[in-house]
Amino acid sequence: VTSKCMIVVSNRLPFVLKRNEKTGALERKASAGGLVTAVAPVVVQGNGLWVGWPGIHLENPDEPIPESNPNDNTPTAGLLSKKVVPVCVEPGKFDSYYNGSCNGTFWPLFHSMPDRAVFLAEHWKNYYSVNELFAEKTIKALKSLLEEQSTATPLIWIHDYHLMLAANWVRQIAEESNLRLKLGFFLHIPFPPWNIFRLCPWSDEILQGILGNDMVGFHIEDYCLNFIDCCQRRLGCRVDRKGLLVEHGGRTVLVRPLPIGIPYDRFVKMAEIAPKVLPTNQKFVLGVDRLDYTKGLVHRLKAFELLLEKYPEHIEKVTLLQISVPSRTDVKEYQDLKEEMDQMVGRINGRFTTYNWSPIRYIYGQVGQDELAAFYRDAAVALVTPLRDGMNLVAKEFVACQINEPPGVLIVSPFAGAGEMMHEALICNPYEVHMAAEIIHRALTMPEDERTLRMNYLRRREKLHDVNYWMKSFFKAMGSLREDGDDGL
Ligand code: UDP
Repeated sequence: VTSKCMIVVSNRLPFVLKRNEKTGALERKASAGGLVTAVAPVVVQGNGLWVGWPGIHLENPDEPIPESNPNDNTPTAGLLSKKVVPVCVEPGKFDSYYNGSCNGTFWPLFHSMPDRAVFLAEHWKNYYSVNELFAEKTIKALKSLLEEQSTATPLIWIHDYHLMLAANWVRQIAEESNLRLKLGFFLHIPFPPWNIFRLCPWSDEILQGILGNDMVGFHIEDYCLNFIDCCQRRLGCRVDRKGLLVEHGGRTVLVRPLPIGIPYDRFVKMAEIAPKVLPTNQKFVLGVDRLDYTKGLVHRLKAFELLLEKYPEHIEKVTLLQISVPSRTDVKEYQDLKEEMDQMVGRINGRFTTYNWSPIRYIYGQVGQDELAAFYRDAAVALVTPLRDGMNLVAKEFVACQINEPPGVLIVSPFAGAGEMMHEALICNPYEVHMAAEIIHRALTMPEDERTLRMNYLRRREKLHDVNYWMKSFFKAMGSLREDGDDGL
């Protein structure tokens, strides 16, 4: 794998740049996501590049990217600045592309919440041109890489809903310049069913954009089938639902379910060394989410309130620890949700608090993963109850950190990709709040041997299917493409 030439293209670079207020110098700020942990070493060791937005507006787009700090021990530490290709976009345009189109249109639509989606031609125009810019930067970077050294067919790996159109231009420019390459795409969010996707005024351009790739990966088979369905119904493509293939423009595009995993061993290690932080005279029910309307947070608080109402034996014994990470705070939907959550937490705490206990501890802020590992380890129950979620890594991180014996219980929504595979968890429909309260009660009173049995299965699966396994599966899927492009429908 490491000898491959791979160009990763994602909205954000694997670190963001910050300007030091005193010196004015640019500095890197590392990101801890699983994707970066798994993919960065391949780019670092191989003949690779990472193309993305640097997280800051650079007045001078040619300002050099700083090398990493000598004390940096994150996976991007070895990523030399010559392997990093920043895509600089003028702030107004970036805002329209990112907040307007990506988070205002595609995020809600792809999570099957079309009423929240805004369809504005202006945002679409900017989405289109930012994708074009990413494609141009990618090809330019590839050409200079190839001038330096020849390599086997380069692999371009494009990530997520921010860049659904980029592959088409990359392919076009590559063909005009006689460059051979393979294009792969991975969508980190759900792909909606046809009756939702068709509401998008630009549905055909999006499908054609994605079909510019040779291989398209989604988390689960449902999303693959939704995509294939849309290609057939919107574009009239010939498709093979069993073989997961779509024919388009004389090429066959492979569609593959590639469920992402987590850096499992890293989480186990963090759980082993993290100091105890939670009081031991309480059972903790844990929620860890970005503050996003897809996460089902309002339903979750309601379910917890119903639990205390129906089973008062949990009063003064059980606490809900909800960590809500501020997210997309420029977007009104998110500001409204924050307001609603603040009020609800206040109301429920006001209703049940006694002189030495409050039912909800609410953290509005980001917690480091080392500290999260302690919460994951010591919680009695994890509540992962999104209304819709591409995968949900929190569910996986929780089971990795459950090293205590006897272990706790995972409750997961069937509408998260994780719920599709983590069969031994308690499955909970978040919309059904009364049943959700019953399920939390069941989790809190589950016998030890049942907890152990369920958790052992869950942990085994996540250990096996970790993020490195996911990355290898992606390469395997790309490798199974035939060089002549004929996969035979
Ligand atoms: N996370 C974190 N600090 C926090 C809360 C969450 O680092 O305070 C991380 C968490 O460890 C996980 C990610 O954020 O890796 C959330 O991923 P998930 O797939 O659950 O949801 P997303 O935010 O991508 O929708």
